[in-house]
Amino acid sequence: MLQLHKKLLTWYDSRTREMPWRDHPDPYAVWISEIMLQQTQVETVKGFFLRFMKAFPTVQALAKAPQQDVLKAWEGLGYYTRARNLQKAAQQVMEQGGVLPSSSSEWAELPGIGPYTAAAISSISFGEYAPVVDGNVARVFARILEWRDDFQKLPAREKLASWLQPFIEKSKRPGDFNQAMMDLGATVCTPRNPKCIICPLRKGCAASAKGLQEELPFKPLRKTIPFRFVVAVEIHDQTGLVLFAQRVHEKLLGGLWELPSLDFGKGESPEDALQKLLASLGFPTAEPTYIGEVEHTFSHFKQVTNLYRLNKSIARPKVKETPTMLFKKPSELPLTTVTRRALAL
Ligand code: SF4
Repeated sequence: MLQLHKKLLTWYDSRTREMPWRDHPDPYAVWISEIMLQQTQVETVKGFFLRFMKAFPTVQALAKAPQQDVLKAWEGLGYYTRARNLQKAAQQVMEQGGVLPSSSSEWAELPGIGPYTAAAISSISFGEYAPVVDGNVARVFARILEWRDDFQKLPAREKLASWLQPFIEKSKRPGDFNQAMMDLGATVCTPRNPKCIICPLRKGCAASAKGLQEELPFKPLRKTIPFRFVVAVEIHDQTGLVLFAQRVHEKLLGGLWELPSLDFGKGESPEDALQKLLASLGFPTAEPTYIGEVEHTFSHFKQVTNLYRLNKSIARPKVKETPTMLFKKPSELPLTTVTRRALAL
């Protein structure tokens, strides 16, 4: 692997790159794209990135935007903590004079920026020799080196970063070196069916030589994910607006909007929970229609939502609107993914 940096950069230079953030070398755009690319595929990010940059073209614009607008622009990307942290970090930057940091250690002090995002931004925007070890890069090198470490854990990532350090220094192009590694993981050394035949690092790759691609990287056994059961009710007013409730800010998906809903536990039926929910909304005797079920997987649990719909004619007069409980068009609010899926049923 002596020529690792050369092989990577030759491959990188030969590729046509259609990633809109590559046309924006400024640190703000690199930062936005790197946050969007955490947990989201390149193809999905493209459209979101362009729309977000149009809505919030500078760190100032992002810092002073209403949070609801930021969440709306993020709607569909998921993992909304990323959007909230982006805005918090933008506000922090503005409080400190409005100049974006130039080193990875300063970037890592902002909310939502871990060591690898900090390394990506500072290497791409400022030429810092800091190797990125994200999930894609960890997968590539776990296979090449046949390392069976748990790359979810920091010590394993630090060990790989140290191994990569001399190569990034020899490359003289730290930003491109990092982007080449990340692109290789995203497009060639993919989690399933890696395209070894076209891989520039195949010679010297232990997994390819020994047929270990499916075994690596090592994945510790995951605990079974618990289920959570919810009833939700879709209530329309006579003009077709829908009743939405805002989620509590400090909790999961805080600040987003959803259909009025209620969790129910073991020993409780969805019908009982529905009656409680309807009574709390002022419809104790209503008989809504069952619409269907939405199953959604969060990082630590699965949620099964039973959706009911209430007849138009009895709706609006009984519901007392508050700032966190409103009749609105679905397009006017940042909605949770479960809500968007439920409304599509
Ligand atoms: S040869 Fe195959 S397994 Fe090895 S790094 Fe390339 S794509 Fe991944």
